[in-house]
Amino acid sequence: MSSRRRRKVIAGNWKMNMTPGAAKELITDIYSKVKGKKGCDVVVCVPYVDIPTVAQVVKGTIIKVGAQNVHFADKGAYTGEISASMLKECGVQYVIIGHSERRQYFGETDETVNLRTKAALDAGLTAIVCVGELLSERESGITAEVVSRQTKLALQNVPAEQMANVIIAYEPVWAIGTGKTATNEEADEVCGIIRSVVSQKYGKQVGKQLIVQYGGSMNAKNAAGLLAMENIDGGLIGGASLKAEDFNVIVEAAQ
Ligand code: PEP
Repeated sequence: MSSRRRRKVIAGNWKMNMTPGAAKELITDIYSKVKGKKGCDVVVCVPYVDIPTVAQVVKGTIIKVGAQNVHFADKGAYTGEISASMLKECGVQYVIIGHSERRQYFGETDETVNLRTKAALDAGLTAIVCVGELLSERESGITAEVVSRQTKLALQNVPAEQMANVIIAYEPVWAIGTGKTATNEEADEVCGIIRSVVSQKYGKQVGKQLIVQYGGSMNAKNAAGLLAMENIDGGLIGGASLKAEDFNVIVEAAQ
């Protein structure tokens, strides 16, 4: 399969923004702008409490609903957590796992990222697994090492048959929410490294088919350049996904 036939996936990460009322307005606005644009997959990863509202608005449309985290147990005494089967029943199809904000502020480790990834895949969700280096790691020249290690550990004991439901999002931590973006070439190089890690583990075909997104201050202005790169198959978008017009421009760039 030629890499050019990989479908692009544009996913918004609303983070901790939008009450259910505000979410309804935003998703209605996004839908009015992106409808009919069938050339890529469009996902919105919303706060848990917004899921029912957003799922109702996008039902039967090209927009799919995602969550921003998932617990690794199916049920039990885990106060405050949400399981994959709960998400599924609410209409969720995608889930972000191991976002750097969760690694940084909530004690997420490579091990818990792996557990969450397996739980999501076993439930039939598509896992958007985030990897990326800190600024100090880039400056020390160990970006490839860090990102390769995170990718390998996230995928430990994930069978090849489930890899069609795995997306890896390369998100350099220094570029998230900072307005600093990796250059097209920097982003493409690391996305290519992630693809080769997956190829080495699962074979060339799985590597070729893997969707690798870039995330880190992707916006209406820089999206077209990033999305034109060989190894970048979409974007995970924070700030710009909260503005329907900007998100729509990014979706258009992925057509
Ligand atoms: C993100 O939250 O995954 C992200 C990339 O944020 P931003 O686009 O705001 O940098």
